Amino acid sequence: MKRSSPDSSNAAASADQVPGLEQVSVTALKGVGAQLADKLAKLNIHNLQDLLFHLPMRYLDRTRVTPIGAMQPMVNVVIEGVIRGCDVVYGRRRSLVCRLQDDTGTVTLRFFHFSAAQQKQFSVGARLRCFGESRRGASGLELYHPEYEFCDAAVAAPLESRLTPVYPATEGITQARLRSLCQQALTLMSRHSLRELLPPQPGLNAGTGWAGSLQQAIAYLHHPPADASLQELLDGTHPYQQRLAFEELLAHHLSMLQVRQQLRAAGAVPLPPPERLLQEFRQQLGFNLTAAQQRVAAEISVDLAQPVPMLRLVQGDVGSGKTVVAALAALQAVGNGRQAAVMAPTEILAEQHRQSFSQWLEPLGIQVGWLSGRQKQSERKQQLAAIASGAAQLVIGTHALFQQDVVFADLGLTIIDEQHRFGVHQRLALREKSGARSHSHQLIMTATPIPRTLAMSAYADLDCSVIDQLPPGRTPVQTVVIGNQRRPQVIERVRAACLEGRQAYWVCTLIEESEALEAQAAEATAELLAAALPDVRVGLVHGRLKPAEKEQQMAAFKAGTTQLLVATTVIEVGVDVANASLMIIENPERLGLAQLHQLRGRVGRGSAESHCVLLYGTPLSRYGRQRLDAMRETNDGFLIAERDLELRGPGEVLGTRQTGAVQFRLADLNRDGHLLPAVKQLATRLLQEDPASVEQLVSRWLGHNQHYANA
Ligand code: ADP
Ligand code: MG
Repeated sequence: MKRSSPDSSNAAASADQVPGLEQVSVTALKGVGAQLADKLAKLNIHNLQDLLFHLPMRYLDRTRVTPIGAMQPMVNVVIEGVIRGCDVVYGRRRSLVCRLQDDTGTVTLRFFHFSAAQQKQFSVGARLRCFGESRRGASGLELYHPEYEFCDAAVAAPLESRLTPVYPATEGITQARLRSLCQQALTLMSRHSLRELLPPQPGLNAGTGWAGSLQQAIAYLHHPPADASLQELLDGTHPYQQRLAFEELLAHHLSMLQVRQQLRAAGAVPLPPPERLLQEFRQQLGFNLTAAQQRVAAEISVDLAQPVPMLRLVQGDVGSGKTVVAALAALQAVGNGRQAAVMAPTEILAEQHRQSFSQWLEPLGIQVGWLSGRQKQSERKQQLAAIASGAAQLVIGTHALFQQDVVFADLGLTIIDEQHRFGVHQRLALREKSGARSHSHQLIMTATPIPRTLAMSAYADLDCSVIDQLPPGRTPVQTVVIGNQRRPQVIERVRAACLEGRQAYWVCTLIEESEALEAQAAEATAELLAAALPDVRVGLVHGRLKPAEKEQQMAAFKAGTTQLLVATTVIEVGVDVANASLMIIENPERLGLAQLHQLRGRVGRGSAESHCVLLYGTPLSRYGRQRLDAMRETNDGFLIAERDLELRGPGEVLGTRQTGAVQFRLADLNRDGHLLPAVKQLATRLLQEDPASVEQLVSRWLGHNQHYANA
């Protein structure tokens, strides 16, 4: 997707006579040559506007001298005193130790790296001002490698009059250098303009508008006055920070709306509901849709009949019955003579979808195709041909569907299950598969409920539907939290369940990010359990098994041939065995709440009372305990997601650590989520009334990272 680069923005050039700061390269600053410019580029700083928006992550207070006797540990202080002694000490590490004294006490300065010249400088009687963080050392409070300067007792050296910024830095650029560069840029701010892109009253604090201009906010945040609230600044709640956070959220939101606009502009082939086919489908289904399923299916059906591509996210807790809703959507595409693709994040889940969809759709005469990363070449070739010719009307697969050589005859709808496992990039890659004619409709399903604030910011390009009801006859899962020392009792419990004809899962969580280690752990556990439970048939499934073995294990469990399935977290999504009513999760403290909730959703699928045992490794931290208690207290995926967001932050909840979808410089969804309704409102207004500002806002905040939003 193309967008004019910040430097060539016509709108920017014509708005003012003087070039804006975004048009002045950092090399215009004193002391910035090609080398330093390269380093700055690593921080995404290319022009002066970038530099000014490179805001401090914290501040130091160098505006007052602290008496040495009043120093507290772990605090940044300025101290001033006279050198009383200086020696090289040979302890575990050689260090230069210097005693500094004022009227209130003495303190040790310690240098592990020092030069002979430095050593000579620290002569007894010299007066020194130091800046550093106090910590507990061998001789009481010490400063390690403080910054220092010699001073004159007669003339009091001036202290800083403002708080000292600490910037995010990178190798080869010191704080001092960044401070001086920002200082230069601030000075230039009065000559070149830093454009105000927000209207004066964006409705943030009804009636009050912004506290000051953008320029004031930027100047303040780079150099807050000595009386500024350090706490507010550290928390990011200062009005000036909030103003910038608002602008950043707005820029991200706008960028996503732009993507959406562009996609919609391309148009799509409308797919009106094929009533007879849909009716036939419902009749042979064997159950009635829940009211929530009906509502969401109807929303999708209306979307599909439009000449613009559907972009809809369906959220529904585990077990809420998303698959059948997806099947209805697929049917609507197929009934219009077009293809539908269903993509799942794991082989196991894709396989399970293949079974469900085949079972439901093949009786209606629909051809179901299948693509997996682990297919034989010959089989794959055959499938590719069927997809390219259109013989395969519905295609199920894993990310193998993304690959270059997959060409659809006429893709009308893509369905992506478990969105959080896929990045925005992959989502868009599949969009492109529909070819040049127009975009395909897109349906995304997730069982990880996304807190509202997060959904609003991360999925501004999607409409949302929620299946907020479970099919009838389910009994909620009872969860207990038990320490590993009671493992023998837990094993007994498994035995009892199996002897009653029920089935159970035993989930081994990953120790490190290694499939191999996880598989080993699961193998060892399976052996131990098989030995402890000679009367129980134990199965084993993990990511290292060959696909055929895995399928065989799953089939055996589904058929009840095995009673206890030892598994890694590969079974997390989708696996559906109604007779399984007990799940043990080992070391649940290693997993996120949303993931635990997903796992737990594998039981409680039938009418029997189901249980989940969280078997934690002792000892458990208080925080860990709180998290597991949250699991015990509720079965509501949305509540759990909110807790997860509070406890772990949006990157974890959305799985964006891998995908890089939401990365803010300054905004924090936990803290600033309350701004989103106003952000949304203003975004809609700006898109209509002020497209030039929209361009500039997006390039100011997402500039060189625009691919995050619209790759
Ligand atoms: P999820 O939303 O977690 O993907 P599934 O689509 O796998 O849930 O559905 C879980 C189980 O519930 C499946 O066995 C499915 O056939 C069944 N199911 C779905 N909808 C209904 C319904 N309305 N009534 C009864 N069972 C249903
Ligand atoms: Mg599912």
